[in-house]
Amino acid sequence: MEKNIFSLSGKTILVTGASSGIGAHYAKTVARYGARVVIGARRVDRLEQLASEIRSMGSEVLAVTMDVTDRASVEAAFDVAESSFGVVDVVINNAGIGQSKPALETTEDDWHAMLATNLDGVWRVAQAAAQRLVKAQRPGNIVNIASILGLRVGTNLSHYCAAKAGVVQLTKSLALELARYDIRVNAIAPGYFKTEMNDAYFDCDKGQAYIREAVPMGRLGRLEELEGPFLLLASDAGAYMSGAVLAVDGGHLVGSL
Ligand code: NDP
Repeated sequence: MEKNIFSLSGKTILVTGASSGIGAHYAKTVARYGARVVIGARRVDRLEQLASEIRSMGSEVLAVTMDVTDRASVEAAFDVAESSFGVVDVVINNAGIGQSKPALETTEDDWHAMLATNLDGVWRVAQAAAQRLVKAQRPGNIVNIASILGLRVGTNLSHYCAAKAGVVQLTKSLALELARYDIRVNAIAPGYFKTEMNDAYFDCDKGQAYIREAVPMGRLGRLEELEGPFLLLASDAGAYMSGAVLAVDGGHLVGSL
């Protein structure tokens, strides 16, 4: 029988921001592809629900409290993960927040909260993962969830766009420095997928009209359409890929100007 090159069997995978949306979906995906899953976020009740769902699929799962803005919380989550499953092999750096605000009205607090989660948090988790992998002399793999808004810009999202552009450059910088340790670092740049972050907008006429007009494929993404690109990056199928940023956006980035 042919080997499944997308298999994640035998790997321990940490998904940050796993309590809803894309992170919760990825947690189930990696379980289906054979990994042991560590799910992290602040809302532990949500994580416990997801953990029982994943357990009922017959997979090994561990829910850990994790606030990516707090170094002690991040290190504690890795410690708990290691004590149950060993060193984390793959990180899905997904935790993030959204906020729509005109640039002229964005406050110091808005700016710092956005950067603290969406850029500093990604850096903090990636660094903690890499330090532990290097210490254990193990190969590893980091997949950062950026955004097409890290590659182009949108109205009322200056702080979000700046943070996601930072994630794109961080991905490339870490790929450069960590290659010698056999740690690959790549990013996915999703277009628009309906989650708790944006459902109010995509439930209204204005949001739906925007998607029909701006996205060449004329529709929102479906969460399962994020699986293939992720599996390519996270599995041995992408063994020679590092520093890549894969857009998964229905052609949104190449929309007509
Ligand atoms: P959701 O709001 O559904 O999920 C966000 C997740 O991040 C939650 O699980 C939340 O958990 C977690 N989170 C937020 N802050 C923290 C924190 N300080 N520490 C730990 N976890 C945190 O949104 P999405 O699923 O849509 O977003 C996931 C990622 O995808 C984000 O990085 C987002 O920017 C990105 N993205 C999403 C797009 C979309 O269209 N949906 C498009 C492009 C990128 P909790 O509150 O329990 O901590």
